[in-house]
Amino acid sequence: MNNCPACNEDSNLGWHKATLSPLISIPCKACETELTVSWKNYLIALLPASIWFLIGYLYTEESTIEQYLVIGSSIILMTVCQMFFMPIEVATPKEGEDADTDTDTDKG
Ligand SMILES: [Zn+2]
Repeated sequence: MNNCPACNEDSNLGWHKATLSPLISIPCKACETELTVSWKNYLIALLPASIWFLIGYLYTEESTIEQYLVIGSSIILMTVCQMFFMPIEVATPKEGEDADTDTDTDKG
């Protein structure tokens, strides 16, 4: 899951992977290819924590230890999901860098 899709080595992003988002790319430690995550995989990785947070928030009383535990555990869950269950991919090259025209533009 954390292997670089470009060089197949361990991308070795470590904790940086938790900061990875579709808007932020991080270079692979082995080959320096910019790595990112698609919106789909990003949202899937955030989904369990979001659901847990929402349920916990709705069913705990405000400013109680239970609510703080829900908030804390959802942050931990989000980080774990991003670290271990979020596939990384090569960031699409910036304009001018690659002449290859992408037929499947994913806007929206
Ligand atoms: Zn690499």
